[in-house]
Amino acid sequence: MNAEDLEKKRAAYLNFLKKQPKGFTYYDASTAKKPIEKVIPIAAQPSTDQTKSTQLDSLNCKYTSCQACPLGSQGRTQVVFGKGSAEATLMFVGEGPGRDEDAQGAPFVGRSGKLLTQIIEAMGLPRERVYISNVVKCRPPDNRTPLAAESSTCKDLLLLKEIDIVQPKIICTLGATATKALLGDDIKITASRGVFVEWRGLLVLPTYHPAYLLRNPTEKRTVWEDMKKIMAKLEELQ
Ligand code: SF4
Repeated sequence: MNAEDLEKKRAAYLNFLKKQPKGFTYYDASTAKKPIEKVIPIAAQPSTDQTKSTQLDSLNCKYTSCQACPLGSQGRTQVVFGKGSAEATLMFVGEGPGRDEDAQGAPFVGRSGKLLTQIIEAMGLPRERVYISNVVKCRPPDNRTPLAAESSTCKDLLLLKEIDIVQPKIICTLGATATKALLGDDIKITASRGVFVEWRGLLVLPTYHPAYLLRNPTEKRTVWEDMKKIMAKLEELQ
């Protein structure tokens, strides 16, 4: 290449550089190392809420056809998993699905569920902000009380894992079955109702089941007093 050609090439290259955006760096693919690829920002990672939801979905997926206890083969329509916010600070735990829950595949959607929704909304919380589950996830025949072995099996397979994922600050157990499942068979709902108990690093407050309130409406006031204690404690724990 002669001097004239070299000068033309240099002028063309300078002209090319002038047209490039600020910060442009010349890169000769034949000699240079490959430039560093763009780093994906942390904001692109999934949020904690998505991670917890995904964990709950994965857990539930494993048990859609569960037959680990006799309730899996005693006429249930479907397994009724817990539902609500995976980020909930307050979790309600009841006994097990009834007819409406078994048909709709969601916990507390029958008459008891409507009353529970009213109670939650009276606390100033949309139902979607709390997490609601049951000790057993399959409807016992004729709505009988789950046997201790059934409660224990389902609690170990699902409920304890749901609690570990959601990590609520307070669990409100609804009725004797849920209270005994978490706090032990010796505990009596009449003696423990309305009193916070420390359990696995969180607080449990037992109260009456909404089905009991439908049969004994005068006890609604008692349960409301328990809910006020929960509201105050949640405020304190913020
Ligand atoms: S009640 Fe629980 S342990 Fe029993 S079959 Fe249903 S999901 Fe499985």
